[in-house]
Amino acid sequence: MTKKTPTFQDVARPFTYRRRRLFCDGVSLADLAEQHGTPLYVYSAEQISHRFQLFEQAFSDRPHTVCYAVKANSSLAILRLLARQGAGFDIVSGGELERVGRAHKPALRKVVFSGVGKQPWEIDAALKAGILLFNVESETELELLASRAQALKVRARFALRVNPDVFAETHPYISTGLREHKFGIDIKIARAMYHRAARSKWLDPAGVSVHIGSQIRKVDPFTAALARVTSLIADLRTDGHEIRYVDAGGGLGIDYSDSPFHPAQQVQKYAAALNRGLGGEAAHLLLEPGRFIVAQAGALLTRVLVVKKNGAKTFVITDAAMNDLIRPALYHAHHEIVPVKEPAGKSELTADVVGPVCESGDFFARDRNLPAVKQGDLVLILDAGAYGMTLTSNYNSRPRPAEVLVDGSSVRLIRRRETIRDLLSPEVL
Ligand SMILES: *Cc1c(COP(=O)(O)O)cnc(C)c1O
Repeated sequence: MTKKTPTFQDVARPFTYRRRRLFCDGVSLADLAEQHGTPLYVYSAEQISHRFQLFEQAFSDRPHTVCYAVKANSSLAILRLLARQGAGFDIVSGGELERVGRAHKPALRKVVFSGVGKQPWEIDAALKAGILLFNVESETELELLASRAQALKVRARFALRVNPDVFAETHPYISTGLREHKFGIDIKIARAMYHRAARSKWLDPAGVSVHIGSQIRKVDPFTAALARVTSLIADLRTDGHEIRYVDAGGGLGIDYSDSPFHPAQQVQKYAAALNRGLGGEAAHLLLEPGRFIVAQAGALLTRVLVVKKNGAKTFVITDAAMNDLIRPALYHAHHEIVPVKEPAGKSELTADVVGPVCESGDFFARDRNLPAVKQGDLVLILDAGAYGMTLTSNYNSRPRPAEVLVDGSSVRLIRRRETIRDLLSPEVL
């Protein structure tokens, strides 16, 4: 049955070969392509639930809520799947608030609202929805929150998102925990801000929050950040504030390579790191994982259009492009690419895997050793479940891919393929 080879299948991904064909759990990817076309995002409901449960288990000895970061993958069906297991949500816009409400209304009470530039209409919508916590990132935002709360006659629970000045090794575009970044409030001035805020009867200083970046593989920076936050909480209690929540943010990284990776161990290490930083702090812990829950549960299925040689170089041109998955172009991110038909021989080629978009930055892999693929073959770009579909665009007037959610051996279309008509409909001549 399931053949185990020491390649990408050793890591916790739902994609494995059976009878020489690639499957997502119980469903053949060739069948999915046949039925839904390509490019196609494919997600495993089992893997998403499993990843969520890893956090639930690792933190079971503390009062906690796992607030899945919606921006990693904001599909309504995935939000509903997580909400039904008790997830809360970390949102960064009024649009994401609307998504949570549509997916599972009761989950609105477990929403934390992050982001450096919240607008009045977004704050109003979140206050009316009765969300759990605003993560406030500036003095200006705090004043705006107080005035909107007063206008609506509700008290706003808030945390300051402090900037702990901790360095976490990751790509510069997704590192956020240093003073030089636009995010958060200098932890040194936070105490005074809580003091001023407490004078407003419309503001409830309920927590302290931190988020040091994304795709962080070594867990020590989480300990350092939480230790600083915990010490601030002690000061705030001394000042008479009733701090009930400590929000540790998200950012736990995965392994995008083909080396073995053990998600359960990684979450346990992460929990131990947070516990070291928190010490005896008993506040309700909020977690905001995004990537770790959905990245490896999803992949982008695409068909080879052309294999083309230009001088010494070979290009594999797929029907997916940078508008469908921008991570390689934006972050120079690595994604494993595997053929849907398991290669029989050792025949290989070294190629750039690229899309049809008119940009040299439109690539998925450069100088990659691949099994010899040819025109018409299907290939799967792995680990595309996070920051894949949510970062798509219509560049080159390309409709966005469809998305399917595999649940065991059943399949649900959770977003139909866009049409050219969809693209043109907002335009006016
Ligand atoms: C993006 C983001 C997250 C999620 O980050 P991951 O790396 O996907 O876990 C969590 N919290 C905040 C405030 C974010 O901006």
